[in-house]
Amino acid sequence: MRRSIPLSAHQAQLLEDRARQVDRDLLESIREVSQRLGCSVYVVGGGPRDLVLTGQPGDLDLVVVGDGEEFAGGLAERLGGKLRRHTRFGTARLEGLGEGLDVATARTETYDSPGALPRVEPGSLSEDLQRRDFTVNTLAIEIGQGPPYEFLDSHGSLEDLEEGHLRVLHDGSFTDDPTRILRGLRFETRLRLRLDDAAERQARAAAADGVFGALSGDRLRREVFRLLEPVGSAESRLRRLDELGLMAVLHPDLRVFREDLAWIREAAQALEALPEDTQEVEGWRLVLPVLLGRLDRAGREAIAARLELRPEDRDWLLDSRETLDRAIEVLMRPGALPHDVDRVVRPLRPEEIALLLAIDKPPVVQWTHRWLDALRAVRLSLTGQELIEAGFASGPSIGRALEATREARLDGSIGVEDELRFALEFLKSGSLEGAKA
Ligand code: ATP
Repeated sequence: MRRSIPLSAHQAQLLEDRARQVDRDLLESIREVSQRLGCSVYVVGGGPRDLVLTGQPGDLDLVVVGDGEEFAGGLAERLGGKLRRHTRFGTARLEGLGEGLDVATARTETYDSPGALPRVEPGSLSEDLQRRDFTVNTLAIEIGQGPPYEFLDSHGSLEDLEEGHLRVLHDGSFTDDPTRILRGLRFETRLRLRLDDAAERQARAAAADGVFGALSGDRLRREVFRLLEPVGSAESRLRRLDELGLMAVLHPDLRVFREDLAWIREAAQALEALPEDTQEVEGWRLVLPVLLGRLDRAGREAIAARLELRPEDRDWLLDSRETLDRAIEVLMRPGALPHDVDRVVRPLRPEEIALLLAIDKPPVVQWTHRWLDALRAVRLSLTGQELIEAGFASGPSIGRALEATREARLDGSIGVEDELRFALEFLKSGSLEGAKA
């Protein structure tokens, strides 16, 4: 049964403002092109959902009943921008406006086997909505005709949004596509909704039936990584994964321990407080080293293989716990010097530094703070060129001299004015002892 509920004047205004952010003429162009081509155009999914939930419609994903690619082409002609077509799915992305815009042909999907990618055919709006993950994502607003605008609510979305429920559209939904379970856990935290009892039961049953086994490593990795973003939500999502018996999706021996969750929570907070870094922060790099720390190498290798990690990420993950343990060991050493600390902390990524800051070992926390606040900023004013100009041949010994000089600066045994003298002594005597003499 389909209900049409008018948007409030405020909601209509927010929708128009949002469209204008994408392009000043977006709504007018959609109306003009859809009328010319005789197709109907809707905003569906996250946009209407977030308009109701938060008043901030996020992405305006367009669904076209008719030829979506042709419509997107017409829009691109009018607005400019570059069109990227994915003909297999009847979707297109219009790039180069204020931001990108996704346009899809309304479609039906059939699953040849659980977990596989679906077969796709053009369909009606209700068929397009029927293939979606949760009722809250089935709200549509026709914009080819409006204003005035109406929410088209065919699956009780407005009521579910009000009651905070994530409800699936049919009993086989999680079997068709188990990534929906992980999407649901993501929506729980992000949108403050909750899987309803039936969905929770179905999620447990689907997981127990091994439906995740049919999922490719690539799709599983993408969803697991998205689940761990932002990393501030990772702790509660891991709790839910555990509650629903889903940790075994990654590895049968994987368990969530209370102290690991506390470490992850505190490290996530520490990560937020870290100064901006050039490296992009990725939640999985904070969470997986902790969870996998309990497994032997074979277990870690099995998880890395299941997630089809890129070789460099796989190597990083397999070594991550030893890397951290080595750093902890150095930072706990009674006679540690700043240059010892710098050597083990400098190569670390921000997620690993956050884990050091959140560990229950005061010397580790103090050294890490000192490294962040002071040591990492120590730079030589001396350059290799100056040493070459002083008569030394370019080669690895110049690098070693610069490194030794930097370490002496870190330890405070020389000042910036002593750098050249120190490095020259080092090169002449070929050792640190010579430079110190
Ligand atoms: P977000 O704000 O995270 O982007 P979203 O709801 O817009 O949330 P998308 O991943 O952009 O999520 O997907 C767009 C829409 O496509 C969703 O609203 C949902 O209706 C549908 N969708 C995405 N993935 C699936 C899936 N695995 N199964 C069914 N429907 C899906």
